[in-house]
Amino acid sequence: GHHKGVTVIGLGPMGQAMAGTFLKQGYEVTVWNRTLSKADELAAQGALKALTVEEALAANPLAILSLTDYDAMYAILESAQGSLHGKVIVNLSSDTPAKARQAAAWLAGYGAVLLAGGVQVPPSGIGNPGSSAFYSGPISVFEAHKETLTVLTSTDYRGEDPGLAMLYYQLQMVIFWTSMLSYLQAVALANAHGITAEQYLAYAKENILSLPNFIEFYTPRLNAGEHPGDVDRLAMGTASVEHVVHTFEDAGLDPSLPAAVLGLFRRGMEKGHASDSFTSLIEIMKQPNA
Ligand code: NDP
Repeated sequence: GHHKGVTVIGLGPMGQAMAGTFLKQGYEVTVWNRTLSKADELAAQGALKALTVEEALAANPLAILSLTDYDAMYAILESAQGSLHGKVIVNLSSDTPAKARQAAAWLAGYGAVLLAGGVQVPPSGIGNPGSSAFYSGPISVFEAHKETLTVLTSTDYRGEDPGLAMLYYQLQMVIFWTSMLSYLQAVALANAHGITAEQYLAYAKENILSLPNFIEFYTPRLNAGEHPGDVDRLAMGTASVEHVVHTFEDAGLDPSLPAAVLGLFRRGMEKGHASDSFTSLIEIMKQPNA
């Protein structure tokens, strides 16, 4: 077959999984990492260990970056600017949309193109079915390298604006982190009453599995910008969340997360939304941070 080569820069848990997957799929893989010893195991599996960033970039037209954040990209590429011309940099480090846009402009200044990517699976998901990553950047560049990128995960191309992959990534992260912390809050309360995480598990799952029905119900209303109080009223929701916060206080626990939720409900009440749905809180969320 034709020669398939790829460079992987950054060998944390994610970069290691990526380089290993490319090797298994028959790619010639060149790796570089700040801490060079992290390349040893991959080298034993057949990866080429570049000694410098320049060497890593020169090896292939495509370099995949898997780093803690975009600042790490500058730390690595600033000393190798002369090797960037004509290269495609696929940055699979997660960061903000603004950071991705700045990076695209910075790379363009050296004749390189950025494809930004946001990986939605842990390292164990790389190369396995059901994995997915958001991509954004020039469509022609994405299409030209889609086959290589699909070795890692299925791809979801979101558009030309390099910030879009990070925007979709952060949209998923805000739901993931706040949901997972709400789960931890519930377990903390259960534990305070002698109920184990294991005993509570079935109830947590049932609750979370009911959420798709709620978001499907409210989506057309959000789309229309309408918040009728026909099935739920903010005044009812406020009382409900007050009960949640009081239950935490009665147990002597930190109510941080439900207290933040209650703060939003109270601002909605102050704005006169008592008879509207709790979805009217989105109007408060859309206001600039005071
Ligand atoms: P790590 O934070 O463990 O990756 C660290 C990598 O970044 C290492 O190669 C490290 O080098 C390098 N690095 C950090 N700072 C610098 C610097 N200043 N100069 C040079 N190199 C630097 O992350 P993961 O491997 O876990 O993940 C990589 C990316 O993938 C992250 O953006 C993460 O958000 C994203 N991601 C991770 C998931 C996961 O479950 N792990 C899931 C989905 C996305 P060194 O070895 O020398 O320290």
